[in-house]
Amino acid sequence: MKTRQQIVAGNWKMNKNYGEGRELAMEIVERLKPSNTQVVLCAPYIHLQLVKNIIKDVASLYLGAQNCHQEDKGAYTGEISVDMLKSVGVSYVILGHSERREYFGESDELLAKKTDKVLAAGLLPIFCCGESLDIRDAGTHVAHVQAQIKAGLFHLSPEEFQKVVIAYEPIWAIGTGRTASPEQAQDMHAAIRALLTDQYGAEIADATTILYGGSVNGGNAAVLFSQPDVDGGLVGGASLKAEEFITIVEATK
Ligand code: PEP
Repeated sequence: MKTRQQIVAGNWKMNKNYGEGRELAMEIVERLKPSNTQVVLCAPYIHLQLVKNIIKDVASLYLGAQNCHQEDKGAYTGEISVDMLKSVGVSYVILGHSERREYFGESDELLAKKTDKVLAAGLLPIFCCGESLDIRDAGTHVAHVQAQIKAGLFHLSPEEFQKVVIAYEPIWAIGTGRTASPEQAQDMHAAIRALLTDQYGAEIADATTILYGGSVNGGNAAVLFSQPDVDGGLVGGASLKAEEFITIVEATK
């Protein structure tokens, strides 16, 4: 049994219409057994209120958003603020997913601002980092991931940083069916924790939840989550099937 908070977050991305989202959330509620693992459903914006109503009586279930805007309010057509997210019961916000960094040009500087907004609202960021295959092949993956974390998070005070969840997601493993090996995941998670120890000290580093993401499924979750520095997962494709998602949740220790 690990002492750090274990978390499994499902990132539904741009999948499921309203009725399908309702069915998925209801089936997760039906199948979920009580445990100390926090389970976060990161549904599309328009599903958030619905999913909140479905999960509200289940202590271990939390509502998550997949993104937010960095300003408080105003003329930003099509955007959603942290206050809006908070007002429908969101607890966690995914920030810096590689798809946001790549397709929407989100920079480290922007992500630092979004992190500040999320924390100022009393919400909890799930801060994503991870390297491309080219970077992994060049052998500079640890330096790359550490640089993303420094740029996005190291302006935070220790009190602020304690609220952050980190998700290591190698880009070559996202949605590809090619999972990092348990050793590759553990090595990177240990390198991240060492960096956090240098910046914030061992007590905070040891208490920080670091998730692995990248083709986690019902078959590989247990061995990934059994690694000493892996504290659960950020799950894309396999979070869209309730039965498999629950198998992944139950793989946390
Ligand atoms: C993700 O999008 O965060 C992710 C890890 O996706 P998948 O599980 O489908 O690789």
